[in-house]
Amino acid sequence: MILKSLVAAALYLIIYFWFLYLLRKPRLWLPVSMRDKLIGVLLLTVLNGYISISGAVVDLWILFISVTGIALLFYIIAAPAYALLPSRPLLVQFIAWNAPRIEIGLLLPALILLFYVSNLKLRALLITAILMESFWYLRLWMKQRYKKAKTLDEYSLLVLKAQANSDIKRFAKKHRILELQTVQEQISWLGCTQQSFPCPMDYYVNTLGLNTPPCCRDNMREMLHRIDSDLAKIGVLHWIEGGTLLGAVRENGNLLAWEDDVDISFLLTEENTWQKMVASIKKIARHAHYQVIVFEKIESIYIYYDPPGPWPFNYERTRMRGEIRIDMHGYRVSRSNGNNVVERFTSKGLLQKNRKGKFEMPSELVLPLSVISFADRKVSCPAKPGDYIKAMYGNYTEVEYTWIEKDAANARRQIDQKR
Ligand SMILES: [Zn+2]
Repeated sequence: MILKSLVAAALYLIIYFWFLYLLRKPRLWLPVSMRDKLIGVLLLTVLNGYISISGAVVDLWILFISVTGIALLFYIIAAPAYALLPSRPLLVQFIAWNAPRIEIGLLLPALILLFYVSNLKLRALLITAILMESFWYLRLWMKQRYKKAKTLDEYSLLVLKAQANSDIKRFAKKHRILELQTVQEQISWLGCTQQSFPCPMDYYVNTLGLNTPPCCRDNMREMLHRIDSDLAKIGVLHWIEGGTLLGAVRENGNLLAWEDDVDISFLLTEENTWQKMVASIKKIARHAHYQVIVFEKIESIYIYYDPPGPWPFNYERTRMRGEIRIDMHGYRVSRSNGNNVVERFTSKGLLQKNRKGKFEMPSELVLPLSVISFADRKVSCPAKPGDYIKAMYGNYTEVEYTWIEKDAANARRQIDQKR
């Protein structure tokens, strides 16, 4: 009997950690592969079959409880990842934002079931799930103490006041912005650090239309400078890219006000092979205690500010509401329609797809690399930063509020036009 309970608990843990591993992809707007989905379905079938079948009899009632219970719980666990997608349905946003409350609400029926159900395998499953969830929220709560007070700059305060209709206290309470501390008229921001969990930046920026919190901005800048200088030291050709380059060019070497990640691209060559590049990034990340996720097929590397958890908890980060991240994409020099180009696997802005199915940029815009000021430091950038940004975004001098909710974007537009 004990053995059966242990098997049920172990099966649940395998599925739980597998599920967290799968969630790394939707978080990055990448599709989950058919193979990974099938493994998930197979594992779930084995677990639910194991719980509900004894001898040759299927207990349909037990099967129903275990299938709906797992579906419900995993929907809640997945919500933060899906709330990061540009489409982000309202229900998913609501669940992502209220996950701890919803789970506390589910605890009571789970305890009642535990009391009334005599199936030991289902009991083991319930206990394991309750323990894992309690453990996760306990650790989240304990990480609070690593947060550090920061000041909001004038512009961020202006945006906050406008979006809050001047009643910041009410706004903070209504949207549960835990970082916002208001003591009388004094406003401060309890900022994230590498040891705490990150602020739910996407929610503050995209849904509420606020500026990126000061802590997240500092942490992104720190990461950018570190990766840039470490790559320069070992001679890897790389350049800031996308929104980061746009900030450097248009905002005088600052991050965009609502920036949510840092983009750095790298050149893959005969000397700097994919394997070498991955090894270099992993080495740099190890020293800085960053976590790295690698996708070889699209030659992309993602670096996260939070340190990796011990196995099998290393993908538990996919449950967090926010993240501070550098997106790195590999380019290769090639020829296309008689022109020299650099090309990458993933689409970006207005980059054109070529006959090989890759996305290309004229190589004279990139090479030889140059430098540009970014947050009081010189960082590596394309040969012609302005033309590069134009090829990627068109008329980049016009400010566009990408991914921000319509109402929040409208309120922002008014502030920004007055500035
Ligand atoms: Zn933060």
